[in-house]
Amino acid sequence: MKDLQPIVLEGVSSQEPLIIAGPCSAETEEQVLDTARQLADYGIKIFRAGIWKPRTKPGGFEGVGAPGLEWLKKVKQLTGMYTATEVATRQHVEEALAAGVDILWIGARTTANPFAMQEIADTLAELKADVPVLVKNPVNPDLELWIGGLQRLYNAGIRKLGAIHRGFSTYGKHLYRNMPQWHIPIELRLRYPGLPIICDPSHIGGKRELIAPLSQQALDMGFNGLIVESHNCPDCAWSDAAQQVTPEILNFILHTLVVRDSKQSTENLSLLRQQIDQIDNELLEVLAKRMRVSREIGRYKKEHKMSVVQATRYNDVMRTRLKIGEEMLMSPEFLRTVLLAIHEESVRQQIDVLNDRV
Ligand code: PEP
Ligand code: MN
Repeated sequence: MKDLQPIVLEGVSSQEPLIIAGPCSAETEEQVLDTARQLADYGIKIFRAGIWKPRTKPGGFEGVGAPGLEWLKKVKQLTGMYTATEVATRQHVEEALAAGVDILWIGARTTANPFAMQEIADTLAELKADVPVLVKNPVNPDLELWIGGLQRLYNAGIRKLGAIHRGFSTYGKHLYRNMPQWHIPIELRLRYPGLPIICDPSHIGGKRELIAPLSQQALDMGFNGLIVESHNCPDCAWSDAAQQVTPEILNFILHTLVVRDSKQSTENLSLLRQQIDQIDNELLEVLAKRMRVSREIGRYKKEHKMSVVQATRYNDVMRTRLKIGEEMLMSPEFLRTVLLAIHEESVRQQIDVLNDRV
């Protein structure tokens, strides 16, 4: 992906960050036009609205479909804003382009599906489309799958490509709706420095309070733009109500953000350091999880009056981990030290359990 073109839109300052805002879904003509007018009054130049909504389960609001495209046309006529919507099939691409939608984005569930990505790419190639296309990360934390999706579009002739970081699914309840795993978009940046990356704090956070801090974090990491969900009545939204803000609040948030100079010579170093910070956090989380399980084992052993250390088990653990670790290019001395330290801490925690200290 060598000759990517920047996403430059007439009348939109090429100064970053690029801001895209609008409701999760187009619901009614009135909601679309009212939200768009307010956003335009606050100076937003690119309006987003989902027309076709991929839902995890049937029965949810699946979008208004093609009639919503007429509302997006009106948004353009009445406010002069550019419009953006999500496409997932050949029919979506054809209909959106025929209706004059300016920017297409690919949703996270679609990026994860190479057949769908190829179908979209083929359609764009057949139509000789020259629109900017933004590819959300796949729901699963798979950088190669994300890059693969981008490459399919690149091979179809799309040069105004961008990536949207919207976080990654995990099982269970967490602070974030989708874990940011910042090191993944950062690695994408290091691999393709010419590819703009836009952060979607709405889908990462899943709650409106997290939009501001996530947006600031993204800007600090040198992201090129933000795509934020904004609705004229967030609490009445038919999808993603908890994570939407009014245009007024969005305007307030945008004014609180500090845009730093990301073009310093130390940028790559700081990106790498941020990667290290993120990975260290993950390491700590994984270690804490392991200790929790160890304490659970401690409780079991206590109930069944078993001894804390079982030598055969310990030897098995060491042997298997050393083998895997060596395949991952780590020295046996280092691995032994780390594994021993982890084992010692696990034993200490189990002894605490036996003695009712936790
Ligand atoms: C959306 O942008 O409304 C959307 C459906 O996002 P994602 O594909 O990131 O879930
Ligand atoms: Mn949404």
